[in-house]
Amino acid sequence: MTDHLTALTGAAALVGPQLEPVNDAVVLIENSHIAAVGPASEVRIPNSAHTVDASNHTLLPGFIDAHVHIGFYEPKQVLRGGVTSVRDLGWPEKRIWPLVDASRSTGFEGPTILAAGPMLTVAGGYPTRAGWAPPGTGRVLSSAEDAGPAVAKLAEAGACIIKVALNPAVGPTLDAALLRSIVDAAHERHLKVTGHTFGLEELHKALDAGMDELAHMLMSPESIPEDTIARMVHQGMAVVPTLAIFSGRGRRIAIENLRRFFEHGGRVIYGTDLGNQGPAPGIDKGEVAGMAEAGMAAGDIIRSATVDSAEWLGLERVGSLKQGMDADVVAVRGSALDDYRALTRVDMVWRKGRRAR
Ligand SMILES: [Zn+2]
Repeated sequence: MTDHLTALTGAAALVGPQLEPVNDAVVLIENSHIAAVGPASEVRIPNSAHTVDASNHTLLPGFIDAHVHIGFYEPKQVLRGGVTSVRDLGWPEKRIWPLVDASRSTGFEGPTILAAGPMLTVAGGYPTRAGWAPPGTGRVLSSAEDAGPAVAKLAEAGACIIKVALNPAVGPTLDAALLRSIVDAAHERHLKVTGHTFGLEELHKALDAGMDELAHMLMSPESIPEDTIARMVHQGMAVVPTLAIFSGRGRRIAIENLRRFFEHGGRVIYGTDLGNQGPAPGIDKGEVAGMAEAGMAAGDIIRSATVDSAEWLGLERVGSLKQGMDADVVAVRGSALDDYRALTRVDMVWRKGRRAR
C-alpha cells in the first residue's frame, strides 16, 4: 500500500503544545497522522504529496468540545464546523456507546466521541423530568451504597467521566454523603466527576465532595464569592463554561464569574452544551465571543479547546500539531491569534488525516 501524503502549505500554524505561531508553515499529513510540521524552509515536501494551498489561513489543532449531546445532531455537521473530538455529557447508554465505538474508526464521518453515559441523580431529580432528555439520560441512585456499583458499571461500559446532576431548581439532588461516595468511587477508578450545578449551596457541596469539574459555569444567576473562586482554583476544579446556553442577565453573570475564575488562574476547558438551545454545531460563535468578553485572549480560547482540553480529558493523540499526533487539523480564514472571530471562519477540516471539509 502506498502512503497517502498531503502537504498543507502557505498558512500560519500554531505548532506544538505551546501553540507556537509559525508563519509560512508546512503541515505534512501521512495517512492518519502528522508526519512533520514546521516552517517551509525546514520541512521537505515529498514529490508524491498532494498539496493544499492554505495561504491566508491559520492552521489549528481540531477543537475539542467537552460538553455536547451529540445525539441531537448529525456528527458530520459538528466535524465540518471544526470540532474533531467531543465529550458527550448525558445520553442513554443504548444509544451513546455504539456511537462512541463507531467514532473510533478513521472513516467515521464525525468527531471522535467520548462519553459519560447517563447522569447520576436521585428519584425525581434532574434530568429525569427534563423535556429534552430521552428516558435513560439520568440514572437514579437511592443511597450511598448504590454509588460504587453504578460507577463500576459506567466505567466498564467505557465512560470517560462520571456526570452528576445538582439542580435543586427542578427537583431533589444527591445529598452530600451520596455525592461523596460517587466521587470516591470514580476516583478509585481514575475517573473524574463533572456536575451540572445550580446554586452556591450545591457548588459548596461539590467542592466539599472533591468534584473535579463544573459541566457549566454555575447555572444560577449568582455571583460566585471571591473565597469560593479561590477554593475552586486551589482544589483544581475545572470549568467548562457553556456560555452559549446562557442569555441576558444570566449570561452576563456567567461571563463575569468566568472572568474572575480565569483571572485567578482557574482551568477553563472549552465546551458548549451542544444540543441545548443556543450553540450551533462546530466551533460556536457565542461561546468564543463570551470567552473573549470574559478576558480570554484568542490564544487562551484556542488553548482551552485543544492543548489544555486534551490534557484534562487524557487524550494523548490529539490537541496539538506535532509530529506523530493524529492529523486533526482545522484551517480558519485570517489570523486566529489576533482575532478570535477568525475561529468560526472554518474553511478546511481534517480528522485522522481524512478531509471532512
Ligand atoms: Zn448538557
